[in-house]
Amino acid sequence: MAIYNPKSLKAEEFINDAEILDTIAYAEANKNNAELIDSILDKARPKKTPEGITCSGLSHREAAVLLACEIPEKVHAMRALAEEIKLSFYGNRIVMFAPLYLSNYCVNGCVYCPYHLKNKHIARKKLTQEEVRNEVIALQDMGHKRLAIESGEDPVNNPIEYILECIKTIYSINHKNGAIRRVNVNIAATTVENYKKLKEAGIGTYILFQETYHKESYLELHPTGPKHDYDYHTEAMDRAMEGGIDDVGLGVLFGLEKYKYEFIGLLMHAEHLEAVHGVGPHTISVPRVKRADDIDPDVFDNSIPDEMFEKIIACIRIAVPYTGMIISTRESEELRGKVLNLGISQISGASRTSVGGYTEEERPHDSEQFDVSDQRTLDEVVNWLIDKGHIPSFCTACYREGRTGDRFMSLCKTGAIQNCCHPNALMTLTEYLVDYASDDTKQKGFALIEKELEKIPNEKARRIAKENVEAIKASDRRDFRF
Ligand code: SF4
Ligand code: SF4
Repeated sequence: MAIYNPKSLKAEEFINDAEILDTIAYAEANKNNAELIDSILDKARPKKTPEGITCSGLSHREAAVLLACEIPEKVHAMRALAEEIKLSFYGNRIVMFAPLYLSNYCVNGCVYCPYHLKNKHIARKKLTQEEVRNEVIALQDMGHKRLAIESGEDPVNNPIEYILECIKTIYSINHKNGAIRRVNVNIAATTVENYKKLKEAGIGTYILFQETYHKESYLELHPTGPKHDYDYHTEAMDRAMEGGIDDVGLGVLFGLEKYKYEFIGLLMHAEHLEAVHGVGPHTISVPRVKRADDIDPDVFDNSIPDEMFEKIIACIRIAVPYTGMIISTRESEELRGKVLNLGISQISGASRTSVGGYTEEERPHDSEQFDVSDQRTLDEVVNWLIDKGHIPSFCTACYREGRTGDRFMSLCKTGAIQNCCHPNALMTLTEYLVDYASDDTKQKGFALIEKELEKIPNEKARRIAKENVEAIKASDRRDFRF
């Protein structure tokens, strides 16, 4: 039997089934242990140090106890702590991005995804470079600066050369004042060689969802194709880091397996990356199984109600305070509104989850990967965020300044990142308002910026940020950053 070892490079040792089951039992045994729960919450609380605010985070065992606890006042305290941590490290900023689907050709058999090979009636599409160009122009014209490219796995139709060519095209387009400044990549597990090529192409984060950490379920849910290989998939982030990619994004598809198992597996994966590479995941995504073409989410009997989903998000925020958390338009406006306060730091806006969707007048449904619950335009989402007291941010500065991986994390861990994030959010929001916003959003946005500029603690940074905001308003000068 495999022994748990977070430093191991073998999937069955760093995501260890026996350790997960033991952790679930430990959490169950301690879910009413108020003293232990209080001590875990105390440990996780942000602390002031001479360098700034720091947070210790939690082990998967400690976090599992919080997740199991049902004592109402403790659950309330968890939510409050998640919000406190969110505000300490991310302030009221929310980073915006959009997915861009390049191709839905796929040789895998994932039973929860309509792009699976056996689906013969879904329209298969692969964007030409001209179509990539048109999609990117449409996205730039909305105001997006940060994309996550998505593609099925198909070595014939979507080889790595195709993905690299698309990235090159995306970075080369500057329509009016538009630019895509960070391309994150969500493609199938691949070789160290290919990860090196992605690194050379200048990608931001490499994102790969584990889908489920439960090996037996994984093998059933991925019956055919290269993705069937659980170990190869689970060890992909180690190969990506070996290939030089500093920022990796984890995620599970909640609803496939029991949430406690997934939650612990996710945190063990984060601990493994920290133990081996000295840097944890850059982001964690929290998608839930949704309806799509030939996929009925009701057939997966592990779906989680909203209340538990919110608790999972709060507990992840407490356990890994420095990791960005992403929620997509799979979720409704109402739920997205709630979880922004519990730790989400990035959201997508105006997403089209089909290949070529951004250039269509109407949202196309014939090649969607999942139904989009939140169907608002980017301007509506930005307007809504401002109304709720958040600062929509289009910032990509860290990546562009080489602040990735451990350099990013060490800045983040001392709280120094906030001297960059806040002014950068305000400057990039100004760009958005000047170039793309409706009159109403402009009015509210500029009022927010004026108020928020005064909160920049460092006098010099405040002065520079104010000058830059004015320069953006008065000219076509763009891309200021700290
Ligand atoms: S989840 Fe990804 S790998 Fe699986 S069928 Fe869909 S596109 Fe293909
Ligand atoms: S400064 Fe860095 S961490 Fe802050 S919002 Fe911009 S890219 Fe993200």
